[in-house]
Amino acid sequence: MKHFLWITLIPALLLCACRQTDTNGNASAKADCVLVKDYFPDVVNNIPVTHIERAKFPVIDMHSHDYPVSDEEIAGWIQVMDRVGVEHTAIMHCSWIGRPFEEVVKAYAPYKERFRLWCCFDYTDIDTPEGLERSLQTLERYHEMGAVGIGELGDKGEGDLYARPVEGKGIHIDDSRVKPLLAKCAELKMPVSIHIGEPIWMYLPMDETNDGLPNAAPWHVDTTRCMGYYGLVNTFENAVRDNPSTIFIACHYLNMNHDLPRLAAMLDRYPNMYVDIAARVAESAHTPRATRDFLIKYQDRVLFGTDNGMDAEMYHNIFRVLETNDEHFYVPEYNYHWALSAFNLPDEVLKKIYHDNAERILTEYK
Ligand SMILES: [Zn+2]
Repeated sequence: MKHFLWITLIPALLLCACRQTDTNGNASAKADCVLVKDYFPDVVNNIPVTHIERAKFPVIDMHSHDYPVSDEEIAGWIQVMDRVGVEHTAIMHCSWIGRPFEEVVKAYAPYKERFRLWCCFDYTDIDTPEGLERSLQTLERYHEMGAVGIGELGDKGEGDLYARPVEGKGIHIDDSRVKPLLAKCAELKMPVSIHIGEPIWMYLPMDETNDGLPNAAPWHVDTTRCMGYYGLVNTFENAVRDNPSTIFIACHYLNMNHDLPRLAAMLDRYPNMYVDIAARVAESAHTPRATRDFLIKYQDRVLFGTDNGMDAEMYHNIFRVLETNDEHFYVPEYNYHWALSAFNLPDEVLKKIYHDNAERILTEYK
């Protein structure tokens, strides 16, 4: 799910930029009153500002959702995709956004070349042998209806609450009840895309020490009520290790932008694991050199994704970060106080991340 929603609740943390008195008392007083949530400075540097209207190479978007509410909106989205260079988009089924799967199938049936459908697990009565059998049959039926993968599963600590028609409360991805479903995914050649946890700042104290405070505060995770981030990472790692024939895609860099060496170690260990970069521009582009190195080293394991609606500007921002050498710019809707710098990725890496890795998973895996 996207993470740049407008802030609704922010601690009154002040930027104490300048406390000395000077001849301009008013200016100092104003600096003392700027809230972190309001801090989006104008860039004054005379440096390149690049607008990327269209991706340099064809794009497969491996992480999006059923945002349109009418045929007209689907048609409008296709026009945007044509303009920005997106060949096709994965519509991930998820309890948070969109219609029941049968309706999704119907809505996108005329546009099979432009949208590929992904479905959830059905956990109804999963504790019983009959319920499990039904769930396996549902998976086969969705596959026959056109589902190419599973997702977006989503576990932020309480289990796979993204599931439909019932939440998988308490059901983590390494749960023994899920194992037959993961085996079925391998058999049907359906990759499994899963959102694990949240960016690390959302687990830290909401005070002046929290580097990601402006965006972390509204998404704060209370771990007294659910599993913490690294516990969830362990459940994911267990599943990836114990189901080597199943392809797993960790959404949003596994929410591990803060610890790329650990993410790299997991990718080294598990050839059946991939990451998508959806909705983590701000979390990656404040550490552009480390992220660039990571993306180049793991260029065969990274998938492009958006997860942020249908606007052309949303695509432009992501292309700018991947393709250009721009530095020190702000995108206020990402909600962090920090400036971003782009990755300037080589062409051969862009081609793979934009398109070829996804194409390989969706075709050669079959
Ligand atoms: Zn999503």
